[in-house]
Amino acid sequence: MGKGARLREERKLAIENQEEMDKITAKIEDMQARHVVNNCSNAVYHEDGCDGNCGEHSLTQLQIELIEEQNKWREIGMDTLGIQVDPLHIEVALDALVEHLEEIGAIPDHNVLNEKFREKMLYRLRRVREANQDAIMAAQSRARIVPAGIDTMPQLVMPPQRRTRLH
Ligand SMILES: [Zn+2]
Repeated sequence: MGKGARLREERKLAIENQEEMDKITAKIEDMQARHVVNNCSNAVYHEDGCDGNCGEHSLTQLQIELIEEQNKWREIGMDTLGIQVDPLHIEVALDALVEHLEEIGAIPDHNVLNEKFREKMLYRLRRVREANQDAIMAAQSRARIVPAGIDTMPQLVMPPQRRTRLH
């Protein structure tokens, strides 16, 4: 292939890639506007092994409110990093608790537990934001604060692997 033909080919591929990315972005924005997620991942992406035809389901009212609350945090540049916790202790305690509850058959449905988790998370996020946003916005007028990405869907029981492939 000559140099001109190769350049034309590269340009064509770049345009096709851009069109593909635009299509994916438009699809995600459409899903977010309709408050739906894919069945395979419970998110806007598809799990590996999914052919992309798994179907959609609607987010619960709590999930929608949590996303809106996270957006409010992001808009004013707040993040959860300043909230002091002992992550190892909490992670192990949580692991033990969930495992025990599963062993005694107290968690027939992970969705129920995850909804409870979201309810608690939403309550805490709202309380922290409402207590801090005035001071933060005042501080921002003096120094710029970099917003952190907290755009993952909060849930207690995570899928075994988080995948990010999109169809
Ligand atoms: Zn899927």
